[in-house]
Amino acid sequence: MTNVIPEAGVTGRDARFDILFEPVQLGPVRAKNRFFQVPHCNGMGYRDPTAQAAMRQVKAEGGWAVVCTEQVEIHPSSDITPYIELRLWDDGDMPALARIADAIHAGGALAGIELAHNGMNSPNLSSREPPLGPAHLPVVTWSNDPVQARMMSASDIADLRRWHRQAVRRALAVGYDLVYVYSGHNLSVLHHFLSRRYNQRTDSYGGSVANRARLLAEILADTREECAGRAAVACRLTVDEGAGDSGITPEEAAEVISLLDHLPDVWDLVLGSWELDSATSRFAAEAEREPMIAGFKRLSAKPVVGVGRFTSPDTMVRQVRGGILDMIGAARPSIADPFLPAKIEAGRIDDIRECIGCNVCVSGDLTMSPIRCTQNPTMGEEWRRGWHPERIRPQESDASILVVGAGPAGLEAARALGQRGYSVVLTEATRVLGGRVTGEAGLPGLASWRRVVDYRVGQLGHYRDVDIHRQSEMTADDALGHDFTDILVATGAHWRADGVGRWHTSAIPVAADATVLTPDDFLARDHPIGRPDAAPQRVLVFDDDHFYLGGVLAERLATLGHEVRLVTSAPLVSSWTAYTLEIGDVQRRVRTAGVIVDTSRVLVEIGAGEARTACAFTGSEASVAADAVLLVTARLPSDALFLNLEERRSEWSASGVRSVTCVGDAWAPATIAGAVWSGRRYAEEFDAPGPPSRDRGYRREYTALASLA
Ligand code: ADP
Ligand code: SF4
Repeated sequence: MTNVIPEAGVTGRDARFDILFEPVQLGPVRAKNRFFQVPHCNGMGYRDPTAQAAMRQVKAEGGWAVVCTEQVEIHPSSDITPYIELRLWDDGDMPALARIADAIHAGGALAGIELAHNGMNSPNLSSREPPLGPAHLPVVTWSNDPVQARMMSASDIADLRRWHRQAVRRALAVGYDLVYVYSGHNLSVLHHFLSRRYNQRTDSYGGSVANRARLLAEILADTREECAGRAAVACRLTVDEGAGDSGITPEEAAEVISLLDHLPDVWDLVLGSWELDSATSRFAAEAEREPMIAGFKRLSAKPVVGVGRFTSPDTMVRQVRGGILDMIGAARPSIADPFLPAKIEAGRIDDIRECIGCNVCVSGDLTMSPIRCTQNPTMGEEWRRGWHPERIRPQESDASILVVGAGPAGLEAARALGQRGYSVVLTEATRVLGGRVTGEAGLPGLASWRRVVDYRVGQLGHYRDVDIHRQSEMTADDALGHDFTDILVATGAHWRADGVGRWHTSAIPVAADATVLTPDDFLARDHPIGRPDAAPQRVLVFDDDHFYLGGVLAERLATLGHEVRLVTSAPLVSSWTAYTLEIGDVQRRVRTAGVIVDTSRVLVEIGAGEARTACAFTGSEASVAADAVLLVTARLPSDALFLNLEERRSEWSASGVRSVTCVGDAWAPATIAGAVWSGRRYAEEFDAPGPPSRDRGYRREYTALASLA
């Protein structure tokens, strides 16, 4: 593969970023710079270790000094099934962990491993071991499993320490340079011991902060002894549980750091739940947690790493110069752009693919599917499809390609084809590039999503053979009237106005004089209801889509002064946002905006000035006043151009056009991440020998069969 990334004549970094490239001593090991890929889940875990190894290696190649695994379960009593994080339960797990460490080393980074015992967060559904915790309490899991943790006895504590030591030995044996002791995110037994709301013990492990931190101190000391100068010890610590005085408070965390500072070689400071720590851009800006982290570093003589969805090198520099952090921790920014450090070093700031803070990556972990990323379609495809975030095969023919539609699918296809060196014409019907992203980025909290468009438009400017034509709506005659060898249709989708979606699979009754809107009407920005000076109306939003849009539109309408009722068939507003860690914030936000929430109800009929809704369980109906109804139900592909071209196949194949293909929402409506991926797939497979991947599949890891006996 050839790296055909345009260098744009830039050769080196800006001197003001030099500080980011200073080495940092972490106990016995030296990080070559301040960029630290903190542990992050990825939905690959023990099922896809080779795919994960390749993913981590790409990060290491991208310049991160330290690249870590996700949390690694140390024992069957820390079994978080159905989730599939890595495991180090016994020697049999070592080869997978070795492969990942070797890959990170091959990429030039230090390899970190986050050993974890999940305590009350592990329902042990697979191992069937009774869960362990500081108290006899129900397990702390999202699925509220009907299982309780048992209060650990002295012998349980001794066992836990032994298991952790064994895991450290195994981690060292397979080559890790940095070993984590995990006490973060309400996902670790050490966090549970630290937190008063779980630890009500009266023995030497309960009561004072020093007592509640005793198990953490013991495991840190054990780990230090096992590492014996061969690897650094990292401690990931919750500095604010977000539960007020009943959970770990910043004052308590400060005491822990002061008490235990002699034990780890580096502190990794986190907030108390994963939701808090990995808030989306809709709810927290870059570096927004700075005030919650600032101040801890001066309590410690050890380097401190922390995250903040950092994508701006200036913000990173401020963290270091301001004495807040020593190392720039990143999970999501390293997913969106594994080459972020390398780009800063090369002075290629404009080429950074900035994380948009959407947490689609997190949804991979929470749905047990390989990590995907809205901005980086190669994430999770490094090994199984051989994609790379910066490199792509050079062109293999003199094809000239027409790409119709500049939404995320068309933009990514054109960008990647341009990177390969092909001649591309990208046409867009409207004046603006970006398709659905441009409209949605104008909604409350979604401004960062524009980065999907900005990055691609910026890159397209580097390719001499890519032309962009705005206000050029293409017909089949237009597409066939030039000498393109290949045509890609990426014309998107439109929202339905007939109520069809998940709940109703055929149209619902709508009165002729009813006012019915779709998100497209609203996003077009010319609808009277969306104007700041709009007369207040009673608007019913029916959300049968369940991702973010229904909730965001309801919030927007409410802030415009309308009386908004959100009716949804799900028990919670925007229920799929559970997978992006936003669901709690969404419930709060829509209510705070004044939206009336009607969950587990469906819209059954739309009249003039009123609508009928029904209970999703009993079917009992009620009328509600509604001057207008906004339907967020389902979309239909805008594929008329593609279908027209399909009908004319014999005509165009005789005239030298090789292919007409449809991608993105025009093929099958999905997420923005799905559209970007679809455009990338077209570019990756363009001119590739052999059948398309849809026919041949992709590389998978197969379970090695054990003996039946
Ligand atoms: P996707 O998510 O698949 O990229 P979008 O709906 O975001 O889809 O974007 C589709 C884009 O295609 C929109 O910007 C739309 O204006 C444009 N488009 C639709 N039909 C045509 C056409 N016939 N000619 C040119 N552009 C079109
Ligand atoms: Fe950032 Fe979204 Fe990519 Fe996650 S999926 S890394 S939040 S852009």
